[in-house]
Amino acid sequence: MPENIMKAQLYYFHKELNRSFNSTVSLLNAALPAMQKILKLDRIYFFNWAKTQEIIALTMVCKDAYCMDMQENISTVGKLGLMKELLSKGYSVSHELNYPAVYVILRWKAPAPYAKDGGDGAMEDRVGVLRLERFSKSKKFAQKDIELILELADELSHNMVNTEIDQDNAERLRLANTLNGLAGVFASSLRFNDAIEVILKGVQKTFKFDRVRMYLFDYKGARVRAALSTDISGRVLRREGEIPASEIKAVSDAESSFNSRVLNLPLNVSGKRVGILIFDNLLSRRNITYLDFLHVKQFSSQIALAIDNAVLFERVQDLYNYDDLTKLPVRRYFNEKLAEEIYRSKRFDLTMSLVIIDIDFFKNINDTFGHYTGDMVLKHVSDVILKNLRQTDFPCRYGGDEIMIMLPRTNGNEAKYIAKRLSEKIKNIRLPVEYTGGKEYQISVTQGISVFPQDSRDAVDLFNKADAALYYAKQMERGTYALYNEIPPEKKV
Ligand code: GH3
Ligand code: MG
Repeated sequence: MPENIMKAQLYYFHKELNRSFNSTVSLLNAALPAMQKILKLDRIYFFNWAKTQEIIALTMVCKDAYCMDMQENISTVGKLGLMKELLSKGYSVSHELNYPAVYVILRWKAPAPYAKDGGDGAMEDRVGVLRLERFSKSKKFAQKDIELILELADELSHNMVNTEIDQDNAERLRLANTLNGLAGVFASSLRFNDAIEVILKGVQKTFKFDRVRMYLFDYKGARVRAALSTDISGRVLRREGEIPASEIKAVSDAESSFNSRVLNLPLNVSGKRVGILIFDNLLSRRNITYLDFLHVKQFSSQIALAIDNAVLFERVQDLYNYDDLTKLPVRRYFNEKLAEEIYRSKRFDLTMSLVIIDIDFFKNINDTFGHYTGDMVLKHVSDVILKNLRQTDFPCRYGGDEIMIMLPRTNGNEAKYIAKRLSEKIKNIRLPVEYTGGKEYQISVTQGISVFPQDSRDAVDLFNKADAALYYAKQMERGTYALYNEIPPEKKV
């Protein structure tokens, strides 16, 4: 083969590959048919060679400019002569087939995502093998053909490196974009809890972790207040408050760590711990790459900030929604909840009750023992109420010495039972001597109850009817309670 023809063929090959490929497979899809054409091959194979193992993995076969992906492991045992020759000379002419075939080695480098320092340009060696075949005995490979094959293999190796790097960059870019998109979730109108769920699911999906867990700390960074986890199907499980001490200790001790299957990231904001993120592949036993680690680590600082903001916002909300002295919700907050509950009760045909509680002779307490003692009475009564309600019941400080409780899914009889129980518990309050100058003082409350929908279907009206029941009970006897619909008609105001 004249020198200038060889140069022209090399140049043709170079031009064919002189563009960007999004994967090494698509590069091979272009390169192998081009080699087939230049070298007049009947078939060409590409194998990946994992040198640590004694196998070469068949990846692709091309014939008549058509390439097929293959997945087949071929043992190199018994082919030691071939391997030795490939490693020393770079090629080997096959003697085992009854038609001409040549093996040639491809060596290139690729970013090493599994290496510990793989995040910053670490490269690892890759090896591949091409098998070139001509089906007719008369078409033996001449020495000039071999020279051209080596040149083409060299050009292809060079392109493999570029494609590996492009592929790695594209993957990094894709992850960065996905994470940026996820970070935008925090700026959206989603509530914090929903946003956190979207983030957890998104991170799991992007990185294909088996499980993502997140522990959220309270605003002081002292206590775990909630734990969220996604399982392999992407469902989010949420636990509030009841996380076992041993589990909390284990996560609290966790430092930013990375091993091949578990990734542990503390979420800190200016030195304060707001949470811990844990990713793992313990079920699938897939390795987590160092690149993944770097990405989620970078992303975790955004999550941490979002959590910190949300916790702060919750605190501000608390200050806005809760009464400082009694720690009960304030009237405005209660009215919102009441409107929601009435809507729900109408929608699902449910009964609910309103109880209004008023402390008896409260003015007297203030006048006798002073305003501070009055405050303490209010606080003790509120504590008893908070401790004795169900999860779904919603109390508030309605004003002065009036406390209102909304009891969803509760009828008049059940509400009376609750009022009776609260009344007894409040009568048992013993004020500390320093508040009363040593005098024994028994606190009592009077209560009025109205029931949805029997007394009214309207929030304001329902309140007025509970108030009328309270007024009636105060008239009859302090320390008691009355149901609006049990007030004798002549006593109704
Ligand atoms: P009754 O048995 O009829 O309810 O008598 P009462 O003395 O409790 O009368 P009323 O409910 O009208 O009095 C409420 C008093 O509560 C008036 C007000 O001075 C006092 N008060 C309102 N808010 C506070 C507070 O935050 N702290 C204290 N110490 N007193 C308050
Ligand atoms: Mg009162």
